[in-house]
Amino acid sequence: MSQAYDVVVIGAGPGGYIAAIRAAQLGMRVACVEGWRNPDGELALGGTCLNVGCIPSKALLASSENFELARESFDAHGIGVDGVRLDLAKMQKRKAGVVQKMTKGIEFLFRKNKVTWLKGFGCFVGHEDDAYRIEVADDEVNGGQAQLVDAKHVIIATGSKPRALPGVDVDNRVVCDNVGALAMTEVPKRLGVIGAGVIGLELGSVWRRLGAEVTVLEALPTFLAGVDEGVRKEAWKRFREQGLRIELDARIAGVEVGADGARVRYSIGDGEPQVLDCDRLVVSVGRVPNTDGLGLDAVDLAVDERGFVPVDEYCRTSAPNVWAIGDVVRGPMLAHKAEDEGVMVAERIAGQDARIDYGTIPWVIYTSPEIAWVGRNEEQLKKEGRAFKAGQFPFSANGRALGSGHSAGFVKVLADAATDEVLGVHIVSAAASELIAEATLAMEFRASAEDIGRVSHPHPSMSEALREAALAATDRRSLNS
Ligand code: FAD
Ligand code: AMP
Repeated sequence: MSQAYDVVVIGAGPGGYIAAIRAAQLGMRVACVEGWRNPDGELALGGTCLNVGCIPSKALLASSENFELARESFDAHGIGVDGVRLDLAKMQKRKAGVVQKMTKGIEFLFRKNKVTWLKGFGCFVGHEDDAYRIEVADDEVNGGQAQLVDAKHVIIATGSKPRALPGVDVDNRVVCDNVGALAMTEVPKRLGVIGAGVIGLELGSVWRRLGAEVTVLEALPTFLAGVDEGVRKEAWKRFREQGLRIELDARIAGVEVGADGARVRYSIGDGEPQVLDCDRLVVSVGRVPNTDGLGLDAVDLAVDERGFVPVDEYCRTSAPNVWAIGDVVRGPMLAHKAEDEGVMVAERIAGQDARIDYGTIPWVIYTSPEIAWVGRNEEQLKKEGRAFKAGQFPFSANGRALGSGHSAGFVKVLADAATDEVLGVHIVSAAASELIAEATLAMEFRASAEDIGRVSHPHPSMSEALREAALAATDRRSLNS
């Protein structure tokens, strides 16, 4: 006997669990399939984001930043601390506690909203009339007996997995992906990182702050291609000052792995062969959509040439009532984008006209300084031939930033030359992840730069820099520079 649901969500990452909860709130009978197991063997909700992504990385970024501040910045505040020492086991335990609080929180929300958690991995096995049949299996659940469920609507939210580097096996001991890089029990003396993207820079920063000598090898000749040029120049300067060694245009020829370390053979462009010897190597060359074992062919679906499940702007696949959201579909691989799609799909199933403005999804890189942006950058606007005005304000002229010792970086506001509509905001600074939310809201409401400039901002606060940059972009002049 199979059980019947209005909606079955496959995957309980930020896309899937949010979709399940929203659908249940809207009165539907909902189940969510998830078979993720943590290293201790416990089944857990929350997907990549909560277990081995956003949440544990931000916990370690905060801990490692505190360690570095205590060692290097407290003195400037007149605070002497002798013998600052690292207890990595305790730091990792704290991180695990944060993760567990969050994943248990989702279990609570599932119970509260009456979402059934089907424990195991799900796979389409067919469809009949207007119902899809899904098999859910886990060796240790139900005595290994697969369970069958039927659903009118299915939401695929199976996320992504690390992109492999050909010829390099990840053992999460010497050669790590994000899972191993977040779980190291010792600070490596020399850490190699392949890929200077978001994950490589964030995890490289964690281990550098804790004492590792970090070298990042990046294939592209441009650092943070796609990020506003001014921002990437500022970030480059700051990361280099911090001692993060980043080699651009790096071509990896091979990786030899020994018992206690790895040797990376590479060249810079067409230059001489070089070697990087490291105790641990992190491979962070991007992520790919995950459709392993999903049985898409049973419902006449196929992935595109890059492995994504094809969807339209409402996350509809070509199979009626089958939807796909989050990292497994086109668009930025970001948790909040997955969440927004989860809400949109649940509401559309309920008959509402929900939609997403993909042009106002904010991006953040949680390094120090943080990097955040929303909308388009100068290069993109120039390519489009759009006439725009730019206003910039440095944190070195912001009282709050100076007082707190975070005066690096700036805010840049780009606005349409004729209408003054804000087209993009780019921030490199401490707390950029928080500051970008105001810019996102402004753009969502199609604010002009003058609108931001006329809104009262708390003083002293870092947010005043956004206001000043907006004023600088309008015909009104900045008041503080
Ligand atoms: P996922 O979170 O990947 O979840 C998919 C779930 O589906 C998994 O739990 C998986 O077990 C399950 N699943 C897969 N197949 C099946 C199946 N057949 N049956 C049942 N279940 C299945 N994004 C941000 O926005 N901010 C950040 O700060 C950030 N930091 C990151 C740091 C790291 C180190 C990493 C790796 C990623 C980070 N991301 C961040 C990206 C973010 O984690 C993803 O964009 C987000 O998790 C995508 O959500 P999702 O629901 O699509 O998929
Ligand atoms: P992200 O997509 O933010 O996770 O970043 C992945 C980064 O890895 C990008 O900057 C890519 O250019 C980089 N990258 C991809 N393949 C390689 C490779 N073979 N060697 C070095 N860097 C790579």
